[in-house]
Amino acid sequence: MLAGGGNSSVKTVERDVFGDPVDVLHVKGSGWDMATIERAGFAPLRLDPVARLAELPELGDARMARGLAAASLDPAAPAPSVESILHAVLPSRFVLHTHADAVLALTDTPGGAALVEEVYGDEVVVIPYVMPGFALARRCAEQFLAERHEHTAGMVLLNHGLFTFAGDARTGRSRHAARKTEPDHCPGGRTRSRDRPRRVRGWHAARGAEAQRAGARGGVARRNCCFAASASPSPSTARPRRRSG
Ligand SMILES: [Zn+2]
Repeated sequence: MLAGGGNSSVKTVERDVFGDPVDVLHVKGSGWDMATIERAGFAPLRLDPVARLAELPELGDARMARGLAAASLDPAAPAPSVESILHAVLPSRFVLHTHADAVLALTDTPGGAALVEEVYGDEVVVIPYVMPGFALARRCAEQFLAERHEHTAGMVLLNHGLFTFAGDARTGRSRHAARKTEPDHCPGGRTRSRDRPRRVRGWHAARGAEAQRAGARGGVARRNCCFAASASPSPSTARPRRRSG
């Protein structure tokens, strides 16, 4: 399984210096690796003011950074992720986000949104590509909260990655693993879920059509595998610039 970076967070209730309860967002700090991160790698932020930032009509990067710093409960903590506001607006306690290669193999294509729907059905909310930061958080706050339903298990950000969330860490992680790895959700895998034959056939049909179109254009079609990196993507499929989590 290839995750390719990302960030995670947990929401807690803690006591401030006056002994009053405060909702806290612990979100991954910049400069820490997801594979080796420790408690010190998470930035503790007051949840309410961070979530409220998503209600502003606009917010530049510098003001966003100052807003996040002002919400910090620990001046010695690392700078919080540029995706902190997005973590704050998602209502679940545990939020996991990766730039998973398996998801990018689906979404970094001209028909990425259709492929995501073929593979995941309506269990994820699909968000068009938006530069990470305030604009992405605001878009997700509006679209996710409008489209989520009782079976929503995650959110796919086209050309970016995957979000899953849950009230407990184990469920959030299992939802994430199930959707970023090959066997169950990548139709090119050796095994697959028996309850998804229509989606699998649809995915192959879509990939075949894409390969034919790429061939007609003289482009380089990707191999039928979620882990097959495109050696030389055509300009139309090149991944937009993405900041690290
Ligand atoms: Zn990201």
